[in-house]
Amino acid sequence: MRYVSTRGKAPALSFEEAMLTGLARDGGLYVPETIPTMSAADIAALAGLGYEDAAFRVMRPFIGDSFTDGQLNEIIAKAYAPFGHAARAPLVQTGPNQFLLELFHGPTLAFKDFAMQLIGQLFQAALSRRGERVTIVGATSGDTGSAAIEAFRGLAAVDVFILFPHGRVSEVQRRQMTTPSEPNVHALAVDGDFDACQGRLKDMFNDFDFRDGVRLAGVNSINWARILAQVVYYFTAAVTLGAPHRAVSFTVPTGNFGDVFAGYIARRMGLPIDRLVIATNQNDILHRALSTGEYRQAGVAPSISPSMDIQVASNFERALYDAYGRDANAVTQLMDELKTNRGFTISQGALEALREVFSSGRASEAETKATIAEAFHTTGEVLCPHTAVGVKVARAAAVDEIPMVTLATAHPAKFPDAVEAAIGLRPALPSRMADLYDRPERVTRVADDLAAIEGVIRERRAA
Ligand SMILES: *Cc1c(COP(=O)(O)O)cnc(C)c1O
Repeated sequence: MRYVSTRGKAPALSFEEAMLTGLARDGGLYVPETIPTMSAADIAALAGLGYEDAAFRVMRPFIGDSFTDGQLNEIIAKAYAPFGHAARAPLVQTGPNQFLLELFHGPTLAFKDFAMQLIGQLFQAALSRRGERVTIVGATSGDTGSAAIEAFRGLAAVDVFILFPHGRVSEVQRRQMTTPSEPNVHALAVDGDFDACQGRLKDMFNDFDFRDGVRLAGVNSINWARILAQVVYYFTAAVTLGAPHRAVSFTVPTGNFGDVFAGYIARRMGLPIDRLVIATNQNDILHRALSTGEYRQAGVAPSISPSMDIQVASNFERALYDAYGRDANAVTQLMDELKTNRGFTISQGALEALREVFSSGRASEAETKATIAEAFHTTGEVLCPHTAVGVKVARAAAVDEIPMVTLATAHPAKFPDAVEAAIGLRPALPSRMADLYDRPERVTRVADDLAAIEGVIRERRAA
């Protein structure tokens, strides 16, 4: 199995190389050269399996000879052991043909744990075999950083540094980053906003002396291994609802387009998915693009679903690559245009290809809040604001007879202020992390200054 860049000018890599590389050297994103398929019999055989066994069968063909069967089984087992629910991704019915897929039972209570826990074990296995050690640096507005720290804590082959904006993440998010006590974990509170954190991260990757000196590696949402991990729960959910004998639709609260793109891969593999519905909050670049064919950046308006507050959906490039018939030159042109003109027009042919698979909708702040209240009063389910965006959009998109599964992307206790504002109750943390507020914190405050941040990283990783 080889991976090629969406811009066509980087070398084809194995699964392991693509994972360790992250972003392709031509600025593109790695995608499998061909998408493996599963027959109806292969899909039917997933029925009733545990999550780990299903994960092995779905992911195996993408991994080639990077890992043996035994290694992959062990990696999957370690990745999902810390989850707080035996089903890992349980499905809950909320109405006739309406379901929630609960993806928040991982150690940091958001769906990013599914990918990050796996990638932590994959990195550890690959690096220890190569006798290498890397420094992972990430910037976060909250969920990604806590998931990365949780996934890499205590792993011998990795130091992990997370830059977060001082005073601008929720208390739960901050504590999830600052309370792990393992010496390879480093939370850095930057005196600046999220854009400043992301800016310094980019600067570090462009500082080749530093980059090579500390062996910098990235695990942001464009990493192919993260997408692959997310393909699995589309299969387990659809099979529970009758696939391959029955089609299922999914609505996905969307920011960077990683999660919904994993659904697209599941569909390409042969899973009978009728519609993939992109749900956006007021930062609706993807909904506008699908509706009008114009992909245009606008400023970000902060919302109560902050993990979906994006200007540009990085993984959309992968969908465009297929929609343009895998024409890397066409994709390169679009991305150049995005850089210079802050937008581009999708060709009629590509737009039709996208609309074959994807629908879209948006929820305003008021609609999100009203949906949290309504769901609570009619079902007793407490939704996080991201999930509420999904539920609102799913209702409008649902077709009779076809089950509609909305991805519940975070636990409500991760966003207690927004939930309390909607229903007047403060959601409690699951009992396994009820002592989060009592654990000691460890954090290094740094100036928004490249040299200062690089200095801290050099010193700490040596220690
Ligand atoms: C990251 C995130 C999203 C958006 O997922 P993408 O893969 O970036 O589209 C939605 N909800 C929550 C809670 C998240 O943390």
